[in-house]
Amino acid sequence: MGSLSINFELFMTDKIKIIRSTAYTRQAGTCFYCKMPMWTDNPQQFALKYGISLKQAERYQCTAEHLQACQNGGGDSQANIVAACKFCNQARHKRKIAPTPEAYKQMVQRRVRQRKWHHPWVFEKGIYG
Ligand SMILES: [Zn+2]
Repeated sequence: MGSLSINFELFMTDKIKIIRSTAYTRQAGTCFYCKMPMWTDNPQQFALKYGISLKQAERYQCTAEHLQACQNGGGDSQANIVAACKFCNQARHKRKIAPTPEAYKQMVQRRVRQRKWHHPWVFEKGIYG
């Protein structure tokens, strides 16, 4: 029984990985919410490219973001998963009530325009655009 559930978990992880990488490609490697470039498996290369430290690169790891949470009936489907940077993903779910993806996206975009999302060096180093 034990090994069966482990195998099931492995399968699920692989499935999410595939969906995430499809979303990453579909979004041209940028975050669904903030539009920052993200890295999937090579933080060193990302840090080098933008002249930032590994620690600074950490928050731009590509994660699979469920638009609709699993407990609200959202599943691991292509339509329900987008690629979001770790920072946006965590910030959304830190809130008591997670905002809807559209509301959250609008909020993030507004803060990006005001340069109040991510650190100032993101803008100084021209990581955006
Ligand atoms: Zn983001």
